[in-house]
Amino acid sequence: LVSRLPQVGTTIFTVMSALAAEHRAVNLGQGFPDFACDRALPDAVTRAMQAGHNQYPPMPGIPALRAAVADKIEALHGRRYSADTEITITAGATQAILTALLAIVHPGDEVIVLDPCYDSYVPNIDLAGGRAVRVPLAPGSFRPDFARIGAAITPRTRAIITNSPHNPGATVWSAAEMRQLEDLLAPTAVVLISDEVYEHMVFDGAEHQSAARFAGLAARAFIVSSFGKTFHVTGWKVGSVAAPAQFTAEFRKVHQFNVFTVNTPMQHGLAEYLQDPAPYLQLPAFYQAKRDLFREGLAGSRLRLLPSAGSYFQCVDISAVSERSESDFCQWLTREIGVAAIPLSAFYGDGFEQRVVRFCFAKKEATLRAALERLRRL
Ligand code: PMP
Ligand code: GLN
Repeated sequence: LVSRLPQVGTTIFTVMSALAAEHRAVNLGQGFPDFACDRALPDAVTRAMQAGHNQYPPMPGIPALRAAVADKIEALHGRRYSADTEITITAGATQAILTALLAIVHPGDEVIVLDPCYDSYVPNIDLAGGRAVRVPLAPGSFRPDFARIGAAITPRTRAIITNSPHNPGATVWSAAEMRQLEDLLAPTAVVLISDEVYEHMVFDGAEHQSAARFAGLAARAFIVSSFGKTFHVTGWKVGSVAAPAQFTAEFRKVHQFNVFTVNTPMQHGLAEYLQDPAPYLQLPAFYQAKRDLFREGLAGSRLRLLPSAGSYFQCVDISAVSERSESDFCQWLTREIGVAAIPLSAFYGDGFEQRVVRFCFAKKEATLRAALERLRRL
């Protein structure tokens, strides 16, 4: 076989989780909660199964879930999307992003990603026949550099993928930055894929600035969400995409011949659970407490904390602790200290090194304390 993705191996998340299991390390590598979701959610799914919701749902998702998503976006961001023509339920954010790219990218098109970026974006662009153009976020702060983004836009630029709150950098774009993006794209036909999977994990009183809030962005955007992140059920793989009707029509053409539909009982359970906004409105405080516990625990160590304004990640600079490369450090930390982390170089195209690694703090307090006890030895 001639590989479609010759440069791709096993994802860093899989590699580090396997290494963590092998060495019985505390796994703060791969991003997923180690605590249970709200019991009401699997109860609602179970009731849906028992009530017989076990056959194919409508291709774009069950109407009740699409309506609940549209209502939520309107309540939080003040824009009304049509549940019929502008919201689609997907098999998680990963499938949503790939599907959006397959729907819009023609061979040779360029798609801008902002490095460091989530590891699926570039292979997805490759599979769609496009060419990824990597534009760095400012090293250290991970903030967007609009002069550099502007310089990367060419007549071949089909799309740009943004991600706020950001994995791995834990930055949150301000309203001013969103407006700068809106202004930059205004004279172009560039499509925005706005990966907002950490939309409910924003700290210190800041607000998530969804692309839905900005008319000039919403008109050109696929806005991607993930119930896995929001409701602590990453294994369920259910997400949603909001996009203008014309975009959604093209998206659904690909979606129907990709997964066709997303599993029915989970959609019913989620539609019911979404009627109460409390679970997602509590998330900032819930995750901020975990972030603060983790940061306070590391404050006396030689790991230098970078800011964490959103997402469930905390980056640290390792230079005062080790001479090793990020990748070697993460291997060593897992094997010898018993804590797994992810090297930031995994999110850059060229393995760029800045001696920074990422921890996930979406963990029980006991897990975080066990990790801190080990990390304080550094
Ligand atoms: N985008 C980002 C930035 C992510 O961190 C993740 C999950 N790690 C995804 C997309 C994928 O989300 P899902 O599990 O819903 O496919
Ligand atoms: N999004 C998660 C992370 O960044 C991992 C998801 C995966 O394993 N692909 O850690």
